[in-house]
Amino acid sequence: MDPFDSHNAERVNLPRNMIENSMFEEEPDVVDLAKDSASFPTFPALDPDDIVYEPRSSRLLVRGLGENDLDDEEEDCESSARLLGMSFMNRSSAHRTAASAYTRHSPSSSCSRPSARTMVVCVLFLVIVVSMTMVLYLLPGCTFTKTGCPKQNKTSPSEPVYPISTNGEVFPWAQLRLPQSVRPLGYDLTLNPDLGTMTFTGSTVITMFIRHNTKHIVLHSVNLNITKATFKQLGDGEASPVTVLEYKPNQQIAVKFTEELKAGQKCVLTLDYEAELSHTYDGFYNSSYTDKEGDTTVLAATQFEPLSARKAFPCFDEPSFKATFLIKISRKEGYMTLSNMPKAKTTNLSNSLFLDEFEKTTVNMSTYLVAFIVANFTPVTKNVSNTLLSVYAVPEKKEHTDYALDAASKLLDFYNTFFDIDYPLKKLDLVAIPDFLAGAMENWGLITFRETSLLVGSQSSALEKQVVASVVAHELAHQWFGNLVTMNWWNDLWLNEGFATYMQYTSIQNVLPHLDIENLFLDVRLRAMEKDALNSSHAVSTEVNTPEQVEEMFDSVSYEKGASILLMLNASLPGEQQFTKGIIQYLKQFSGLNTYTSDLWNSLTQVELSTQLQNVSEMMNSWTSQKGFPLVTVSHKGDEVTLTQEHFLLTSDNNTRSSSLWNIPVSYVNDTCNLAPECRQIFTLKTKSGTLKLPGNVKWLKMNYKNTGFYIVDYGKDGWAELCDALTNDYKVLTSEDRTSLIHNIFALSRLGRVTFQQVHLLLKYLSNETETTPITEALLQLNALYRLLDKRHELELGARLKVYMLLLFKSLVGSQKWDEIESVSKQELRSALLETACRLQEESCIKQAKDIFKNYVASNGTLRIPGDLQQVVFNVAAQSGDWTTLLDLYADASYDSEKRKMLKGLASTQDPHHIVWILKEGLRGKIVQTQEMPLVIDTVCKGFAGYLFAWDFIQENWDRLIEKFPVGSFAIQRIVKSATSQFSTKAQLAQVQSFFSSLKERGSSMRSVQEAVETIKLNQRWMDTNLAWLRKLL
Ligand SMILES: [Zn+2]
Repeated sequence: MDPFDSHNAERVNLPRNMIENSMFEEEPDVVDLAKDSASFPTFPALDPDDIVYEPRSSRLLVRGLGENDLDDEEEDCESSARLLGMSFMNRSSAHRTAASAYTRHSPSSSCSRPSARTMVVCVLFLVIVVSMTMVLYLLPGCTFTKTGCPKQNKTSPSEPVYPISTNGEVFPWAQLRLPQSVRPLGYDLTLNPDLGTMTFTGSTVITMFIRHNTKHIVLHSVNLNITKATFKQLGDGEASPVTVLEYKPNQQIAVKFTEELKAGQKCVLTLDYEAELSHTYDGFYNSSYTDKEGDTTVLAATQFEPLSARKAFPCFDEPSFKATFLIKISRKEGYMTLSNMPKAKTTNLSNSLFLDEFEKTTVNMSTYLVAFIVANFTPVTKNVSNTLLSVYAVPEKKEHTDYALDAASKLLDFYNTFFDIDYPLKKLDLVAIPDFLAGAMENWGLITFRETSLLVGSQSSALEKQVVASVVAHELAHQWFGNLVTMNWWNDLWLNEGFATYMQYTSIQNVLPHLDIENLFLDVRLRAMEKDALNSSHAVSTEVNTPEQVEEMFDSVSYEKGASILLMLNASLPGEQQFTKGIIQYLKQFSGLNTYTSDLWNSLTQVELSTQLQNVSEMMNSWTSQKGFPLVTVSHKGDEVTLTQEHFLLTSDNNTRSSSLWNIPVSYVNDTCNLAPECRQIFTLKTKSGTLKLPGNVKWLKMNYKNTGFYIVDYGKDGWAELCDALTNDYKVLTSEDRTSLIHNIFALSRLGRVTFQQVHLLLKYLSNETETTPITEALLQLNALYRLLDKRHELELGARLKVYMLLLFKSLVGSQKWDEIESVSKQELRSALLETACRLQEESCIKQAKDIFKNYVASNGTLRIPGDLQQVVFNVAAQSGDWTTLLDLYADASYDSEKRKMLKGLASTQDPHHIVWILKEGLRGKIVQTQEMPLVIDTVCKGFAGYLFAWDFIQENWDRLIEKFPVGSFAIQRIVKSATSQFSTKAQLAQVQSFFSSLKERGSSMRSVQEAVETIKLNQRWMDTNLAWLRKLL
């Protein structure tokens, strides 16, 4: 999935500065215990069968703790059992040990040298207290409920207590993860959506295989009203009715049997059910669009990743439970249906309905990849190799689909060759859905997109096309990475997402080189460090269990850091060959199966081609099993260079220490050879420090050539001064990636407190000569973030001085920008970043130009087009200078999605309080502004001076409505929390943020993004305390 609904077009003017994102470290133990598997204390292994969770009384009973070994095939249960156990033990204020709670040792007497009478009283007293405690402790949670306790729940203390189903019976399973005793083989799904009543009925026939003797079948289901259930052994005559139990807190249903189902048997469970179409963006949900004539058409689509297939049909909803699917959907005339596979036949049903039946999947598939759509879209199609490729959109946007079709066909060809495995299905549909929260979703054979991620006009700029190509490339890569080979569990989500992200840049560089995608990839790698520098970050591969934790895995660590470490690995191997061969071997070896991170590293190690015998597993484990990344400090004397590594941990607590070490492929160039790839040398730093010898004396060293490594470098005072001198003399002695990485690193070190702002200032001086895109966009991003922090802290005079400084630094470059169409994507990126900053800082000629263009645009009545990279700056200026209502009218009528979105951002950038309140409310209402745009609207409002406090109030007041639309932990909520809080830098703001989020309890208080928010505010505060004086002196 691509959860990021904003791509290049937004990245420059929505800086996520590390200053904003820095911070902190409060109660690290608590944070780590809850989130970081690496810091879990070692507990004895728990047998899943012995863990009993009775949620209403919040008690956990463990029988024979530590005595029973796990069945190998129940391994998956171990982690959840452990976590479940851990979380309850941690919550217990008494913090009793497992032994004292469950084996009931007699309490030791506290009476010393007692008299006989005292003894008797003591013993009696203790007996009474212990008895009462035991009685209260052992009473089931249902004791004081209206319905009382079911008979089955009367258990002796040594027997498990299971949760209670909705019908009052005991539910036979107590964990979030499903038992491994039953595996689904195939699903036969029939769905009958009614787009008038917004309901649907369904029938799911699941053929399954019994792996171990068991007396129950447990699977997932949410909000499905099961009306009929039957069960039979395969080849065993008639099916018999069975009772389905439901335990809602774990989103599970179960069927219990009196006789054991025997290992090796195959059986069939048939479930008929009815449900409402979802009103959110997941499950089987309804959507609609209004065309130019004002007619509204209703449609239904699905979004299942990660945990929502269970909302559309009862299923074993975990990625490792792969099965085949045969899907049938009924529809009215005038509608069409789509699913993963090609349509096999259509049957005319009696009541003017049609039943479309799709071919049975030829591959085993995880449930989160199933998809179906009922709509009236129109396609454009093309044959690519043996695949029919189609792009679908609502009828009036059909002409916006050509670019996606062309890009997808090139990319599909590329992947077929690159992976040496042909795309395995006969067709591949790319569908633009009017209401869609994520950027796109890689359902096998039926990829769904936001309209803005798939549709562009023929005259759209290359920068707008880059967004589409990039998302298409990501989702196509998933057809291999994720769909063909799937992570075993969500803890290794990065195997899907890190790889798809890496491949999206690699494939576009090869297939569409004019899109200059390498600039975006560099930016992505630098931004990934922001979150990962915090103590609340997590290892790439990390323990997850609850739905909220699963949602939280869709973050920059899984995607962007995942892609960054793959690039680092590839760059450090002797040649492209080993990396490519390794991933081909991995895909072939595990085709159709599920994998762990170690499988990938083993494949890459096995195809070792060089004589250096680099152990990929050894190197990469240090990057995937611990959070964060290293800071490499370098010093050189003559020809000897000393390197030292430590954890680059942004924390406001000076006592926090980390002993993490990484296996770092440190690359470097020096003044004698610095630009060509052949100049690059590599030194592997595995220990705390190391020494390397240069062939002779050098004037300066630049480490991390082209910033392909995921680490930050501190050159020391002398080293930085040498580099500053070199750049001042001739900035072209380093590649633009190297210059960008120096700018990024020095700002990061400033946040860490390693360099003064004066040193930052010294490096930035060379920028008045800089002409390339990425060093300038990086500097603008950092300086804009600093400006916003000063602004929000009401340091108005200092803010004004920073504004003058920035305008002066980039004066000649801003002045040289033209306002007409240009071809180069890189130049478009540079121009939009420069002009948006200049206009935001009220640079006069910029504002005047933007106003003139808007005026002409309105006067042309739709015939004039503003160059794509200039649209944002023009709409921002219009919204902020009296043309807000005009822009709103244009927004309502706009037909190009990317343009429409920029208009929305312009509207949200207003500084008029009434307009700010209107747009926030409208976003939530979802009529004129789609609710899916809420994260973008909030983010933009928060950037402005007038809006950030409004937005914070709005979020607090409407939290429940927001989490109704965007699940707790989801990327959308992560973004909202970050937007609202990352610019705070005072104690009072910190207190407000802490107080609000702690009041949410299970509605979001334990989200990682909340910890990030608190960390960031504390770091902002510290940075301000340290640097305000410097800023006053320097600016
Ligand atoms: Zn993805």
